[in-house]
Amino acid sequence: MDVRAVLSDIQTAAQQHGWTLEIFGRQGEFNLFALHRPASIGPGHPTRLYLSAGIHGDEPAGPLAALRLLRDNQWPANAELWFCPCLNPMGFVVNRRENPDGKDLNRDYRHLETAEVLAHVAWLERQPRFDVYLCLHEDWESHGFYLYEQNPDNRASLADPIVSAVEKVCPVDESGVIEGREAHGGIIRPKFLPHERPDWPEAFYLITHKSRQGYTLEAPSDFTLSVRVNALVTAVNAALKFATTDAHG
Ligand SMILES: [Zn+2]
Repeated sequence: MDVRAVLSDIQTAAQQHGWTLEIFGRQGEFNLFALHRPASIGPGHPTRLYLSAGIHGDEPAGPLAALRLLRDNQWPANAELWFCPCLNPMGFVVNRRENPDGKDLNRDYRHLETAEVLAHVAWLERQPRFDVYLCLHEDWESHGFYLYEQNPDNRASLADPIVSAVEKVCPVDESGVIEGREAHGGIIRPKFLPHERPDWPEAFYLITHKSRQGYTLEAPSDFTLSVRVNALVTAVNAALKFATTDAHG
């Protein structure tokens, strides 16, 4: 993936479709930025959704899905959206999971030792709370798409609608154990014990400080890039659709 071209295309699409762009940090030659888009209709308060991608530099499907979603511009009218489409651009320059210092940014959301995560968290702290977060990833070892759900208040789950939509475009990992955790039909519901874990991923920060429901979406790197991008785009669209219906929340 040519990350410079993809980021340029993301910014062009965002600008064309009325997103505002805020630069919150710097990594090497790149600005780290977040996009924001208000809801286009009332009534009532909009559903606030946060999306992120590109924190692992060997997972191109996330930023490419972000580009596709921004170009398609099919957002629910009552959704207010915040989107960080590429949190580790330098990682993509060298096709490596970590940042240039060899740090996995997605393990730094408790201690904030990297400049990138420190800047990202400072930006997140300035935002309102989100109804739902979605973190876009790939997994190099999985046999199909799967997701992690955090839903401590047992709100209407988006997991089944997401998996039902994705299985039409990408195989789902039906393993009983994924990444050492119990899984059912591509859905992992880990116990939420963040204070027992020293190295927080972004999702732990979000569920602790910014949201009460969220999904980490994992596309299988075994499959072609277009299948993985389709899987993530389909997952996001399903999540947005069900998160913004009246039945939710
Ligand atoms: Zn990842």
